[in-house]
Amino acid sequence: MELLELHNVISRCSLCGLAQSRKNAVPGEGDFHASLMLVGEAPGRNEDLAGRPFVGAAGIFLDELLSSIGVDRKKVFITNIVKCRPPMNRPPRVNEVNACKPYLEQQMMQIGSRTVCLMGNNAIKGVLGKGHALSEMHGRLLQNEGEQKFFLTYHPAAALYVNELRQVMMNDFRELSKILSS
Ligand code: URA
Ligand code: SF4
Repeated sequence: MELLELHNVISRCSLCGLAQSRKNAVPGEGDFHASLMLVGEAPGRNEDLAGRPFVGAAGIFLDELLSSIGVDRKKVFITNIVKCRPPMNRPPRVNEVNACKPYLEQQMMQIGSRTVCLMGNNAIKGVLGKGHALSEMHGRLLQNEGEQKFFLTYHPAAALYVNELRQVMMNDFRELSKILSS
């Protein structure tokens, strides 16, 4: 299935209960040939209203992170492990992550980004099947994951609550930029 067609399918999807409460599904956006894909947790309120990923406060910080390493948001692909907003922004449940996962897998396969940046432990668990201690693993690339390399960092929303994480994430993105240019 072509990506645009896949995104149409996602927009109409009702494979899990989140379909009931969403306003708009948020398939993701960006360059369909991006060498970098960024994966967050789930749409929030602003994303649900706009049908676009990372357009609220966390998105503004993500834009800052990207521009700090000279990367244009339009040149990457941005999405989430679940494509519909959980009520009250609760974390997505395992059954929701599992129902939605084939969409992300299709996106990863078709876009074929060499580097996939997983933001926050819910994204990490959703994609890799297990969590990692971010206090140790943030800013690092996972080895032995085959063709695709996974880079781990915090979720940009975390930096809105814990101010010290802003600089930590800025440093992580600096590492990411070195990896992208290597
Ligand atoms: N948080 C996420 O995880 N994803 C979004 O798209 C917005 C906020
Ligand atoms: Fe479908 Fe994913 Fe939305 Fe659930 S979260 S309804 S699986 S698109």
